[in-house]
Amino acid sequence: MRAAIFEAVGRVAVAEVPDAELREPTDALVRVVRACVCGSDLWAYRGVIPKTEGSRLGHEFIGIVEAIGTAVRTVGIGDFVIAPFQWSDNTCAACLDGIQTRCEHGGTFGAAGSDGGQGEAVRVPLADGTLIAVPGGPSGVDASVIPSLLALTDVAATGLHGAVLAGVTTGSTVAVVGDGAVGLSAVLGAATVLGADRIILMSRHEDRGELGRIFGATDIVAERGEEGIARVRELTRGLGVRHVVEAVGTPKSWKMAIGMARVGGTIGAVGVPHTSPQLGIFTPFVQHLTLSFGIAPVRRYLPDLLARVLAGSYNPGAVFDLDLPLDRVGDGYAAMSDRRSIKTMLTP
Ligand SMILES: [Zn+2]
Repeated sequence: MRAAIFEAVGRVAVAEVPDAELREPTDALVRVVRACVCGSDLWAYRGVIPKTEGSRLGHEFIGIVEAIGTAVRTVGIGDFVIAPFQWSDNTCAACLDGIQTRCEHGGTFGAAGSDGGQGEAVRVPLADGTLIAVPGGPSGVDASVIPSLLALTDVAATGLHGAVLAGVTTGSTVAVVGDGAVGLSAVLGAATVLGADRIILMSRHEDRGELGRIFGATDIVAERGEEGIARVRELTRGLGVRHVVEAVGTPKSWKMAIGMARVGGTIGAVGVPHTSPQLGIFTPFVQHLTLSFGIAPVRRYLPDLLARVLAGSYNPGAVFDLDLPLDRVGDGYAAMSDRRSIKTMLTP
């Protein structure tokens, strides 16, 4: 089968790889209908973190079940399914706590030994604890909903999780640091799912600011660093914001998030800290801040978010602004890395 592989820094291409196949009785085999490129895929592409040549790529996909193992009960052949970016059993202690991304038996698609999402098919371990079937199957949904179903595999739920970790509730004022697909999804989740009143998005890219407004942002702040912090404080009577979503993971974004938080505020962190920023804790200490972290347990949010997408009240798919055939995956990485695309969809 064809799948995207990592050739070198700045070089991603499609190659022939062994067919995905069932291995365990708890597996499902999914033929990919749509996949996409993630901001977190760009770290290796840009050479910020190491990756082995020939590694498989991608962790976001939706598709049709082609085969199931003998122990699979909740999905069947022909089902149209959504896969969170990590598989999980949904039964262990961490999963029962709603933290499926720390499942004792879980893993990430695209990790060594597993199929990546950017390919023609994927072996899904622990299918019952991982996959969610779309009611009505592939012919039961309008094509216009497909991008939103794809966004549910990662960014939509990751952004929402950031707002949940930040403690956003009805009527809240929240600031979002990061205008990529995750930051924008945090705006959408805060507005549509959690009922925030005021949403300040830190963005200096016109196209992203515009989408941020469509998603519910009330204020767009283009300034960065100390100026950005000052602008947010200006907008909040000098107090800062009670709720901040950190959706980037760099030292600079952390400095902004801490600087704009109000005394006693909460920062919800979903930006993958690939470069392991050294976080001074003195300021959070004297500011009485709560810092809450986590790789988003997408599986926990999926049933509710799927219902909202199908009801037409929630449209995270608007983050996709480029749709390419799988064979042009390299162009998708380049477009996202150069910020010419917010998020690129791939069709095998
Ligand atoms: Zn588990």
